[in-house]
Amino acid sequence: MKAEFGPEAPETRQVIRMAERHPDIRTEVHVIRGSMRTLTEIYLLGPTASISSEPFEEFPAVEKVIRIRERYRTVGRHEGQAEAVGFEYNGVHFSQDSFFLFPGVCAVDTRENLEATFRALRAAGISTTRAGAYKPRTSPYDFQGHGAKCLPWTFELAGKYGIRVIAMEVTSESHVDEIHDALAAAGNPTGVMLQIGTRNAQNFELLKSVGSQQEFPVLFKRGMGITLEESLNAVEYVASGGNHRIVFGLRGMKTNLGDPHRNFVDFAMVPVVKRLTRMPVCIDPSHSVGKRTLAPDGLTDIHHVTAQGVIAGANMVLVDFHPNPEEALCDGPQALTPPELEHFVRDAQLVRDAYLQRLKLKNELG
Ligand code: PEP
Ligand code: MN
Repeated sequence: MKAEFGPEAPETRQVIRMAERHPDIRTEVHVIRGSMRTLTEIYLLGPTASISSEPFEEFPAVEKVIRIRERYRTVGRHEGQAEAVGFEYNGVHFSQDSFFLFPGVCAVDTRENLEATFRALRAAGISTTRAGAYKPRTSPYDFQGHGAKCLPWTFELAGKYGIRVIAMEVTSESHVDEIHDALAAAGNPTGVMLQIGTRNAQNFELLKSVGSQQEFPVLFKRGMGITLEESLNAVEYVASGGNHRIVFGLRGMKTNLGDPHRNFVDFAMVPVVKRLTRMPVCIDPSHSVGKRTLAPDGLTDIHHVTAQGVIAGANMVLVDFHPNPEEALCDGPQALTPPELEHFVRDAQLVRDAYLQRLKLKNELG
């Protein structure tokens, strides 16, 4: 619908009635908040192949009729659909044009370490971070995260250091309630982006439950052993539930062909996901590479793959950081240390600037 016609507008109702006159067609109405404007989209679901788009195109309140061929219709960027889905959360604007670094602990361990982390971030001018309270681990004997009991001081410290958004993994619906309750009890000093980890990429019930709430945006990490198409269909579960505030994360693929990295780095997919969908794209160089090895040029592999994702237009970088990696209870070997943070931040910004200049050059040369 044209921007001035919202979901309740009589014109919108009229289009819905027109659509539902066709046998076996049902409709869904979605409100899409783009970076420039908010649009109401009416989906026709069912046997649409034989329906002519003309009568809809002739309807004055209709901006555009788009025939969807891909199955991920809400997150997808379909033919003629230029508008990307950007969103605002806790004062931070995420879109396919934005750029934020999210350095932080893989898992919250002690109050001292978390405070040292937030202090280092503030010094580096960063107000977006990651912090795991619920850790899905390969072995049941490994540290599983402190769970709900670390949330009160995690949120309190985040507020104290001006953190606006924490990416935090949830592995069950009850974690979302625990996060909501702890944030409310602390007076909402910060925000949380619910992270769906690669191991839960096809946990459809979890996807439906984070999709049916509107409070928190979602960072969906691509499944490590499924196709991109399957991951896009999976993330559609979140969007089809009504929550369109989603960032799509790349974190490497599980295969020995990526050795000696922990996962096969897949950041060549940044522009692909931006082309196929309207979501901002995040990269996770830490879980892709898995260690802090240096290349002969003195930069770590983590720096190098971050640069590869950022030069290709990544909108968000999730990166492990720990003030004392040898004390970390999870993924210490891949964590950046305090002396490395400034270098990492400035290096990433340098590459981001180079990406923006690449866009300028393209526009100059047409
Ligand atoms: C994480 O980010 O802490 C994590 C477990 O990532 P992934 O789901 O990509 O393995
Ligand atoms: Mn980890």
